[in-house]
Amino acid sequence: MPHQSHPQLDPRKPLVLETRDLPRRPGALHAVSRQVPAPKDLGLELIGVPVGAELDLQLRMESVSEGVLVSGTVTGPLVGECGRCLRPISATLDVPIQEFYAYEHSTTDETTDEDEVGRLQGDLIDLEPALRDAVVLSLAANPVCREDCPGLCPDCGVPLDELPAGHNHEQVDPRWAALTQIKHSEE
Ligand SMILES: [Zn+2]
Ligand SMILES: [Zn+2]
Repeated sequence: MPHQSHPQLDPRKPLVLETRDLPRRPGALHAVSRQVPAPKDLGLELIGVPVGAELDLQLRMESVSEGVLVSGTVTGPLVGECGRCLRPISATLDVPIQEFYAYEHSTTDETTDEDEVGRLQGDLIDLEPALRDAVVLSLAANPVCREDCPGLCPDCGVPLDELPAGHNHEQVDPRWAALTQIKHSEE
């Protein structure tokens, strides 16, 4: 089914690219520099780009024989939570993106499935799915605030790096505790 109907893309949407001015001649290039608000759900459970945060897209659209190749980088802020100590993390997203979009009715369009290769819709490209894939694939499922984060004390839940070395909750037998006190009072 090469020609499924799409809901019409809105060219005013920030993640829709317009190729009308890009000549359909292999090698033709257009640079796209754009700041867009991040769509929702751009990330994983513990880390991602906050919805509405500014993403910077530095892309180029290149005509190739059967469509348009979009490549470049996406940068923006990342916020999340350390998977070990639960403290907030902030970082910078900087990921490469590269996706091919076949022309409608091209051989590629007629001979591949929708989920194999992207498609132009008329002159428009919906960049959001490729952007989401690039961002999500770049993120760690279990982000850490720093590589050697020791995590939380399993007994009191305080981050171990905020506690004195040797911190523990070893239960001292009350009878020994009493002896220790006597010993201390003798000193
Ligand atoms: Zn941590
Ligand atoms: Zn503790």
